[in-house]
Amino acid sequence: MAGDTAAVVCHGNLKNGIDAPTDNREPRRSQAHQKINVKQILVVEDETRIARIVRDYLERAGYRVAVAGNGSDALVFARSRHPDLIVLDLGLPQMDGLEVTKALRKQSNVPIIMLTARVEESDKVIGLELGADDYITKPFSPKELVARVRAVFRRIDPLPEPSAIIRAGDVELDRTRMQVSVQGRRIDATPTEFELLATLTRQPGRVFTRAQLLDAIRGLEAESFDRAVDVHVKNLRRKLEPDPRNPRYVLTVYGVGYKFAE
Ligand code: CA
Repeated sequence: MAGDTAAVVCHGNLKNGIDAPTDNREPRRSQAHQKINVKQILVVEDETRIARIVRDYLERAGYRVAVAGNGSDALVFARSRHPDLIVLDLGLPQMDGLEVTKALRKQSNVPIIMLTARVEESDKVIGLELGADDYITKPFSPKELVARVRAVFRRIDPLPEPSAIIRAGDVELDRTRMQVSVQGRRIDATPTEFELLATLTRQPGRVFTRAQLLDAIRGLEAESFDRAVDVHVKNLRRKLEPDPRNPRYVLTVYGVGYKFAE
């Protein structure tokens, strides 16, 4: 399901009659396309009015959205573009939503949220049995749909735990043990020094101002002035650097702050 996000990033109108925006929304869409890791949702709905509302709400919620008006377009899209989630209306012309679900499940585990009308009540049970993840009954509130979409993503993408081990060049930090080693040699770092170093090593090369570094260690101690950062850096260098007066790991960026060597 990782998908070829890069491939979808650049194209505006999709082939096969999928997604034909009638209003002029290109600027906002292309902006959204520039974001990395934006989830893409395929909305399969033959009623253009509903499709448009759903698309607008999902786009406003920060997703990229493509629309397919029938089942076979949806299958083609799903196969080539690997959307992260599919909102699938059950009442579709030709191939109905259940058949689409069945076909989709043969090719992927993409999460599916079904849209059902009350008259299709029994269909939603079949849909769930076929492997749909959730359903929402028409008429529905678009906000609720957005909430369901978010819930599905939360289920499948729990926030990753920050890694316990950080490695940057010769320096390794083990968060669970609060241990720092440089070239395999353990050094004793205070909790403040550890946090400071963790912040720097997570993004080697990034320049941090003293204020940002202070933010990172705030809460660990009462002192809260910029120069405190300098003191901690000095102590850290004494422990970490082969030659503290000629640092190779924690580098000073004059007039700004510090960075970890790339
Ligand atoms: Ca329909």
